[in-house]
Amino acid sequence: MHIVVPPPGGVRDRVFRPPADTGPGFVFMDGPGPLDLPCGSCGRVLLRGLRELLPVPHLLFECPGCAALNAICPPEPA
Ligand SMILES: [Zn+2]
Repeated sequence: MHIVVPPPGGVRDRVFRPPADTGPGFVFMDGPGPLDLPCGSCGRVLLRGLRELLPVPHLLFECPGCAALNAICPPEPA
């Protein structure tokens, strides 16, 4: 994953935010696959156990550790 800077304000982007009471083990997804996707800023794992890396445009994950917005693939050029 990589960090989206600056955070996009476009309505096409859907941001997944962590709940307020996240513990250190919180991940947005937890699966049986071999891939872990860490935050591009602090390295905290946000998506765990993916089977394969699928580009998901316009989907952002806010890191519960450092609040950086992470994208699985780059946003499309404006
Ligand atoms: Zn982070």
